[in-house]
Amino acid sequence: MSKDVNIESIRFLHSGPLAPIKRWGAKWSLWAVHLVTACCGVELAHTYASGYDAERWGSLNFGMMRQTNLIIVEGAISKKMARALRITWEQMPEPKFVIVMGACGIEGGLFWNSYHIARPSEIVPVDYYIPGCPPTPEALIRAIRALQKKIEKGEAKTTAEYAEVKLEDVLEIKEVKERKPPKAPLKLAPKPEIKIEPKEVDWEFGNELVSRLSEKLGGLGEVFITGVNRIYIKTTKERFVRVAEILSEDFDHVKSVNVIDLIHENRFVIEYTVSSYSVKELMSVLVTISAEIPRDNPKFPSLINIWPSADYQEREMYDFFGVWFEGNPWMGNKFLIAPEVETPLRKDFKIPQPNYVLGGES
Ligand code: SF4
Repeated sequence: MSKDVNIESIRFLHSGPLAPIKRWGAKWSLWAVHLVTACCGVELAHTYASGYDAERWGSLNFGMMRQTNLIIVEGAISKKMARALRITWEQMPEPKFVIVMGACGIEGGLFWNSYHIARPSEIVPVDYYIPGCPPTPEALIRAIRALQKKIEKGEAKTTAEYAEVKLEDVLEIKEVKERKPPKAPLKLAPKPEIKIEPKEVDWEFGNELVSRLSEKLGGLGEVFITGVNRIYIKTTKERFVRVAEILSEDFDHVKSVNVIDLIHENRFVIEYTVSSYSVKELMSVLVTISAEIPRDNPKFPSLINIWPSADYQEREMYDFFGVWFEGNPWMGNKFLIAPEVETPLRKDFKIPQPNYVLGGES
């Protein structure tokens, strides 16, 4: 069949005598691709579950985007998730529709000033927004019904267009006052109080463990108790790997890797917390090893060869603080956040400040 005949067939289907049947079919077959991103998804689940049973009005959640024609964005979209949203939308056949659920999807919601929030309207053409946090299942049903009406009327377009209405004309406001939401706190504490000190606790096995570890480490680090089942070891960057090697004889995995930003002192504190799955008496014990590094040259030896479970956590700390774990092959790649976001958990990270103006330019 030639290309022209194909186009003619499509036109015939869109506007010929079969068009109302096609629209009727689309109206009662709104299959929403399953793209849960945030807590609004619970309300969506409620809508599609047996109580409301969205299949009664022809809507069905479906796992494969190539057979769906509707995306319901359920709440917050992060900059990293934005790509997945666009790819999903691109893969869906025409005509396709988008409903955005919840305050997060509209303007960021409670994450309005986050370093990582994206607005779905900048990624895909949105047909309907549902306000609220969380919006109710009834509100979602209303949006689906509104979309069905739109399809019925023959507005089954890919790109939604809205008439621009100026709020001041509607409300007859002559002077437009600038309205700004509260700014994110930008003040830094003059001297953050981070004290890690030995504590007197009634933990007999702890005292025994401190002497056992001190003996094993032989002066490589200072060992003390900070609570029941909590041991703290202070050492240096240079001695860290050796301390880890010695501890790995008893402690077989890393529970967490943490970075503390002491901005006023131009230092980072790096902490690895380790525990044991194999030695019964040590299973409840958490040992934190810490060392300091300069903030302007944040390099630290990776411990993935000693504890492979440190891998993802080192990658997280690289994403959030920019600490380069030497020896971890993933350094330089973004693991959790979008490539353009740089070190968002450093205390001097500047969050972009949105400036909302009633009825005017933003
Ligand atoms: S709008 Fe509210 S319920 Fe929905 S994703 Fe955001 S925080 Fe969660």
